[in-house]
Amino acid sequence: MGLHSAQGIVLRRFNLSEKDKLVTFLTDRYGKIKAVAKSARMAKSRFGAALEPLSVVQLIYFGRENQTLYRLNQAEIDHSFQSLREDPCKIYSAAYFIELTDSLIPEGHPEPQVFRLLKETLETLQNNKFNAILVRLFELRLMAVLGYTPQLTHCLACKKEPEPGWVGFSYNRRGILCQPCTSKLQPGTRFQQGILIYLKKMLTLDLKNSNRLKLPKGMEDEIETVTHRLILSHSGRELKSYPFIKALSGNL
Ligand SMILES: [Zn+2]
Repeated sequence: MGLHSAQGIVLRRFNLSEKDKLVTFLTDRYGKIKAVAKSARMAKSRFGAALEPLSVVQLIYFGRENQTLYRLNQAEIDHSFQSLREDPCKIYSAAYFIELTDSLIPEGHPEPQVFRLLKETLETLQNNKFNAILVRLFELRLMAVLGYTPQLTHCLACKKEPEPGWVGFSYNRRGILCQPCTSKLQPGTRFQQGILIYLKKMLTLDLKNSNRLKLPKGMEDEIETVTHRLILSHSGRELKSYPFIKALSGNL
């Protein structure tokens, strides 16, 4: 038994009883954890607004290492992302980021890179004009930090660099297929190599500079399809927040 302290991002919470809430956090040190916040539903709760989804909080919680449910002792707000919450485009994006993270991360497994990615993405979202590219960047980078970086330089089958022109792309195998190999292995889609240049840029671009990346007209939809289907091939299901994100991308 012991006390644990960590910084955490509130991913989700629900009412466990008339008084208590169950809160899911992504922490910097211990990965995703669930904790019971006793009396958090009472008017004078000691947790105040610290259990709102998105908030970055300093946590102290109690319980055995690797148990599935902890008891929350303390949660103090570091960042509430208040201005982000007031912008519909931003709040829908943030809701998607946390739902996506929650759906792909198992509990009790340290994920410091995912924590940093999510926190930095939320900070970028808050501090800049809304740009749908940040959503694509987050999808691609989340796959990368989870070990699913798509192979974009060499054909998955023959390992050769593709000839100029179009390439095939396999979502299940996560990478490109050169033109001759698409006759042997079914690609999920095919696209011009211009798309590859932007996907490669998106894998290395500093998130804070996401608003400087301008996609040529017509490429937004194709890149959206690629990053979203990559996510789907891994998560296996559509997220509740995705239709809102899709609508945002279409309107910008
Ligand atoms: Zn090939």
